[in-house]
Amino acid sequence: MNNKKDFNKIVTFLKNNGFFFPTDEIYGGTQSLYDLADRGVIFKNLLIKKTTDFFLDLSDDLKFYQLDSSIIHKEDVFLASGHLKNFFDVYSECKDCNFRNRIDDLKDYFLQNNLDNETVFDTLLKQKKIHCLNCNSTNLSKFKKFNLMFELNYSLTDEKTKKVFLRPETCQGIFINFQNILKIFRPKIPFAILQTGKAFRNEVTAKNLFFKTKEFTQLEVELFCKKEDEENWFNFFTEKIFLYLINDLKISQENLKKYQYNQKELAHYSKKTTDIMFNFPFGWKELLGICNRGTFDLENHIRNSNSNLKIFDEETKHSFIPSVIEPSIGIERLMLALLIDYYEEDEKRVFLKIPFDLSIYQIAVFPLAKKLKDDAKKVYLSLKKIKKYRVIFQDNASIGKLYHKYDAIGTFFAITFDFDSLNDNCVSLRFRDSKEQKRISIQNIDLEIDKIINEM
Ligand code: ATP
Repeated sequence: MNNKKDFNKIVTFLKNNGFFFPTDEIYGGTQSLYDLADRGVIFKNLLIKKTTDFFLDLSDDLKFYQLDSSIIHKEDVFLASGHLKNFFDVYSECKDCNFRNRIDDLKDYFLQNNLDNETVFDTLLKQKKIHCLNCNSTNLSKFKKFNLMFELNYSLTDEKTKKVFLRPETCQGIFINFQNILKIFRPKIPFAILQTGKAFRNEVTAKNLFFKTKEFTQLEVELFCKKEDEENWFNFFTEKIFLYLINDLKISQENLKKYQYNQKELAHYSKKTTDIMFNFPFGWKELLGICNRGTFDLENHIRNSNSNLKIFDEETKHSFIPSVIEPSIGIERLMLALLIDYYEEDEKRVFLKIPFDLSIYQIAVFPLAKKLKDDAKKVYLSLKKIKKYRVIFQDNASIGKLYHKYDAIGTFFAITFDFDSLNDNCVSLRFRDSKEQKRISIQNIDLEIDKIINEM
């Protein structure tokens, strides 16, 4: 179970193994922002590609369109989407330790401890019944509201344009391009639009590495369907995504669960939301969400922009506003969950149990001794030439040290060219998880590896 894993240790491990750097580190760092380092970038790109392919291949009856819209929108978009009015964090600041207690986190605390979360929080605050989640003090400020959007200092030549913001979710770009998509692609309902890109939220309590940051990547799908099909598609996505996490990304099932929001917890745009929760070392938390946004967004953009965002139904010969089902995935949050889940320690080593297709390097090739470097390199180059695997060559340490170093970043196989290789034209293939070794022929090396993978 992940709650037994030491989160701080994992964070240090990921930093030391080239997954991330703190942003602006030479200037003391900027809170709640991280730069991805080499291994983090490779892993993130693989994860985006795999998850995108998962959606695109989900159903023969569902056509997907992709989009890459701007990260900046003007005020009108967020007036329509309700973010200017409703996208707030409410928090109470501790006068003793300055920690900002988000009302959502306090609610979680009350829920987890079976306390009555129906009670008005202001009253509880006055009665000194709320304790700071950081230092336990009851010396807390009144609740304050804080809009989570970043407003930009954007130079505009158009006098009429008012304020401009960084987007807090990627999906508004999809809704405001809805008319363009209908006009150019003429999609038949149901259809879906997928986009991956950065989102920005001025989070009050950003914390836990990539779990909550002010800049993050979302992969969002907006599925447009008829109202009577909402529930089916909602359940379809929820089930398929849950299985994808277990079967394809290999997250242990015991570390996943679903949580359906009650009416009071729903975001301003949501008719129904189910979160898939992950058992982080710091507790069960939202990993991703599936939301029924109904007609909320399109209806409001129609009202605000006077555009026709309706779709024509060939059967009934009427135009209507489609309903929207939205899976929304924070890519860095998912990365963090995976890296925690893959993290393993045994007596001698720390390693990441990354599945083959997501491994940063799938195969590392080493010579057993310096003398064998050129022969080992030939094996490496022949594998590299096939362009089937992500492969690396290394000879700058003893074989034991190399095994541990590459196990640490989740390298699936290690190939060692040893003295026997000179005679039998075979190399030893070592499995990261079991440390078992098998001799395979150099001549058909890729076929041998493919066979082993297929049998796993
Ligand atoms: P939470 O309250 O758990 O931070 P949320 O309910 O505000 O998240 P949504 O608005 O539903 O999140 O966003 C969809 C997904 O985007 C989340 O499930 C999460 O994976 C990701 N996400 C949202 N906010 C952040 C953030 N600040 N940092 C990293 N990922 C985020």
